[in-house]
Amino acid sequence: MTDAFIGLGSNLGDSVALLSEARIAIDQLAGCCIVAASSLYRSAPVGPQDQPDYFNAVLLIDTSMSAPALLAALQHLEQQAGRVRVRHWGERTLDLDILLYGGQVINQTNLQIPHPRLTERAFVLKPLLEISSHLTLPDGQSLAASCAATADQPICLHNDSRWSVVP
Ligand code: AMP
Repeated sequence: MTDAFIGLGSNLGDSVALLSEARIAIDQLAGCCIVAASSLYRSAPVGPQDQPDYFNAVLLIDTSMSAPALLAALQHLEQQAGRVRVRHWGERTLDLDILLYGGQVINQTNLQIPHPRLTERAFVLKPLLEISSHLTLPDGQSLAASCAATADQPICLHNDSRWSVVP
């Protein structure tokens, strides 16, 4: 079994419902179980500003799936959620990313781990560090230091019982 961190994001439709349903669906994937879930966070969009705020969270899972199989399963869940991508950096119904997969470094055309933008975004780093405050990249780089460097990116906790009651 391998520890993997999954980033969840949405800013189209009923985002909190979409993220809560995705969380349940991830827990139900064969060979996957959720070990920890971050709080839900809300932030202004990166990229085009004429789009709704984003809701984000991070899950820590324990999985027997390979990283490519996990990516395929997550992409299937995105499609099931009726994923719509309007434009680059633009609004989307559900975005599921593998942020870290064990201590592995993967550089394939369709799969890069650590996720390439992991260290740049407060909406990924805040929930990630909430789950695992001393987390490092496979090369030992401190993610707390990366998070401190994103302090100018406004982000706030979003309390919603639909997310907090999910097992
Ligand atoms: P995005 O919707 O912006 O997350 O990008 C989706 C694309 O990123 C897909 O074509 C994936 O194959 C690719 N990708 C590369 N690395 C990852 C990763 N670690 N997690 C999720 N998608 C990834």
